[in-house]
Amino acid sequence: MVTFLSGGTGTPKLLAGAGAEFAPRETTVVANTGDDVELGGFLVCPDLDTVLFLGGDELDRETWWGIAEDTAETHGHLQDIAAAAGLPPGPRYLDDAAQTSGREIARWRRFSAVAEFMHIGDRDRAVHLTRTGLLDEGHTLTAVTETLATAFDVPWQLLPMSDDPVATLIHTPDGMMHFQEFWVARNGEPTVEAVEFRGAETATATPAVREALSEPVVLGPSNPITSIGPMLAVDGVAEALAETPVVAVSPFIEDEVFSGPAAKLMEADGYDPSTAGVAEAYPFADAFVLDEVDGTELDQPVVRTDTTLDTEADAERVAGAVQQALREVTG
Ligand code: GDP
Repeated sequence: MVTFLSGGTGTPKLLAGAGAEFAPRETTVVANTGDDVELGGFLVCPDLDTVLFLGGDELDRETWWGIAEDTAETHGHLQDIAAAAGLPPGPRYLDDAAQTSGREIARWRRFSAVAEFMHIGDRDRAVHLTRTGLLDEGHTLTAVTETLATAFDVPWQLLPMSDDPVATLIHTPDGMMHFQEFWVARNGEPTVEAVEFRGAETATATPAVREALSEPVVLGPSNPITSIGPMLAVDGVAEALAETPVVAVSPFIEDEVFSGPAAKLMEADGYDPSTAGVAEAYPFADAFVLDEVDGTELDQPVVRTDTTLDTEADAERVAGAVQQALREVTG
């Protein structure tokens, strides 16, 4: 048995070709939910969805989000109506009273449906509506995710990191905004003063996550701050990782990040934006997989390979290196 901790790009890219090394039926994927947002009443879980669509072989692998060849009729009409009415464009984050009322799981991540700022495809939307309907019927996010994974025929066990709300909020000189507003609407451009995981202080890891974390754990090449950070902030996770063998793949080659805002966010959090900084952020990691041209010296054992993850063959190679690193730490 093995457990992967996942955001929405790096680890899914690794999972796409990990099957030969890690049998899917013996693999659990725990996904970050700090990125989740509620748009006009339905809950979008971007990281869970990427793994769900990947597992169901429906993922758009150009973007690593959304369903391949999905239409976006409703999304388009939302834009058209807002424009015709002269309404200012989104994101339209709701006021504090709205953030703290209504569905508990959407606290501090609730946006109006007007001028929908995230591109939600039609089939994609059906998933969010089903998820939200089941939540409203009283099921936990863990149970709902299992149901969706069955619908998509996902080969792994897929778990949200928690059933409690944790909202990743970015504090900037112009005020606070949800991570999705910072990244999707503002292109990651605002200056980051601090990253907050609101709700994490009372959130707990579910029994299923705790059980999964008693197995060897793989951290794919994820953003340490906004993909792994929310998990580490949830009670019970960092403690569990300290007790089990953990291998992490760097999302950097020395100080060059493959993609995304990891470098900027790490700097804001006081880490060097590099493989060395990733190692510092993961004090519980027992071994690392680094790129073959990454000369970073670490205290832990290192397995080097080409860590580019463009194809399934790439993912197979990196998964092989992860397996080798795990063997080194488990003996
Ligand atoms: P997010 O939820 O979209 O932020 O995705 P993740 O946190 O799962 O993954 C983002 C990280 O994946 C970024 O920090 C990238 O540097 C890393 N990444 C993307 N493509 C590759 C790749 O081909 N190889 C490696 N090693 N890392 C990658």
